[in-house]
Amino acid sequence: MPAQRVAVVGGSIAGCAGALAASRSGAEVVVLERAAGRLQDRGVGLMLHNDRYTELEEAGYLDSSMPWHQLARRPWAVRDGAARTGREIGVLPLPFRSYNWGSLWEELRTRIPAGVEYRTGAQVSRVAQDAGGAVVHLGDGTQEHCDAVIGADGYRSVVRKAMYPGARAEYAGFIAWRGTLPEERLPGPPGAFPDRDAASVGFPGGHILVYRIPGPGGVGTSVNWVFYATPPAPAAARFTDPRTVQPRVMSDALRRCQLELAARHLPPFWQEVIHLTRPEDTFVQPMYDMLAPSYTLGRLVLLGDAASVARPNTGSGAVKALQDAAALEGALRAHGRWQDALAAYSTERIPIGQATVELGRRLGRAQVTATPDWQTMDQPALEQWWLEAAGPTGFGGHALRR
Ligand SMILES: Cc1cc2nc3c(=O)[nH]c(=O)nc-3n(C[C@H](O)[C@H](O)[C@H](O)COP(=O)(O)OP(=O)(O)OC[C@H]3O[C@@H](n4cnc5c(N)ncnc54)[C@H](O)[C@@H]3O)c2cc1C
Repeated sequence: MPAQRVAVVGGSIAGCAGALAASRSGAEVVVLERAAGRLQDRGVGLMLHNDRYTELEEAGYLDSSMPWHQLARRPWAVRDGAARTGREIGVLPLPFRSYNWGSLWEELRTRIPAGVEYRTGAQVSRVAQDAGGAVVHLGDGTQEHCDAVIGADGYRSVVRKAMYPGARAEYAGFIAWRGTLPEERLPGPPGAFPDRDAASVGFPGGHILVYRIPGPGGVGTSVNWVFYATPPAPAAARFTDPRTVQPRVMSDALRRCQLELAARHLPPFWQEVIHLTRPEDTFVQPMYDMLAPSYTLGRLVLLGDAASVARPNTGSGAVKALQDAAALEGALRAHGRWQDALAAYSTERIPIGQATVELGRRLGRAQVTATPDWQTMDQPALEQWWLEAAGPTGFGGHALRR
């Protein structure tokens, strides 16, 4: 691939990885990120399947210098009277590493070669293309002329809008309440929450998943919880349009709703974990589904959540974004023309995006909107339920074919 000028819109996980992919294949790259500061303080925890980690390490997108915490088991429990952590109904394997979102972003950001310009406070308002190139219009009235544009600007992508104006993320009907607290603040007794467990408690209409992650900046250990349920219609109204401003803000109504659900359905230990989390360390994440008709059109190409949005129940949002970048790099190296490389990339990644979105829908139904009677389940019933919902592969991401 001869050196070309590439603009990457968005500088989060997909944006940093996309900048790496394009620069490694010889392009001159500018990253345009609308956030004025650094992003690392805004995320919390995410999980990465061990096998996906190995592939991405081999591809040069992850390495063990990024702080991580090893998980192994996913015990499922239900509330049972005063039993402190509830009654365990079974355990599923969970061969995953967990990351602090901020450290993962920080490490990817550090990897971007010095020759790449990473511009912050750069809000892209519009993207256009013709046979000779592409133009990125910025909110301050300036323009960037380039040979190709990588849209890594998340689920409300302006690059996708230029390609497929009708392809919008659709609200999935439920949200996640999320929070973190330092491990030292966990309630007793010691050992109630084993180090390698990702504890899950199921209840009618939702569940909570709790696991440890490296602390902020890789220092210490934090506890990350994700509480999935359907908020009442008035409180959820602002999520139905994915263009909503500040979708992550925890309103008083949503906070009350979560505390009521927790009081009704969670064992005492996990209720305390939620109460011990400072309000400023909580936020909400609405669930959306979206798959772009194609990941490329002319000189425009989509990566990560701009290309496909799957519910985080799949445990694969970051993996999908990093794999997209690795696949794009492979295609850019293998083909002599942009158009051929982008077409090959799209053909390779669309089936993965589609499978992940479908898996997210199944897991959302099984774990939130059409939950089973967990109270009556035992180990074989739990395994059977999980197999029917998740299938044999795909949870934590599909294998990267390169
Ligand atoms: C601040 C933040 C915190 C997150 N925290 C978590 C977390 O704790 N756990 C988890 O599992 N996932 C988290 N995610 C989501 C996760 O990063 C993604 O699902 C996944 O990694 C794919 O990321 P992405 O880069 O495709 O999209 P995103 O991470 O959504 O990144 C899109 C980026 O594009 C930028 N952008 C959008 N529009 C424009 C524009 N018009 N012009 C310029 N820039 C633009 C945004 O500011 C953002 O940085 C977080 C995302 C963000 C942005």
